Amino acid sequence: MHTDGNAIAGLLEEIFAREVTSTERVCQSCRARNRIGDHQLYRGAGLVLRCPSCGDVAACIATLPDSYAVSLRGMWLMDRQT
Ligand SMILES: [Zn+2]
Repeated sequence: MHTDGNAIAGLLEEIFAREVTSTERVCQSCRARNRIGDHQLYRGAGLVLRCPSCGDVAACIATLPDSYAVSLRGMWLMDRQT
């Protein structure tokens, strides 16, 4: 069972200090380009976002007592903020 990246929009905004569900990501495995909000979200010991095209891992996020442990994969295309 999974939801999608939009389900953790608030958490992602806290981590990145910006709204990223509309950010596009190029997958390291299949090269597909998808919005973060369209990625598949799996909840286990931590949160895992997976590529909606091939299922490879896009991000792992663990919430620790005083911090977030974040691992990102692929290329996240962040718009510049001026
Ligand atoms: Zn992929």
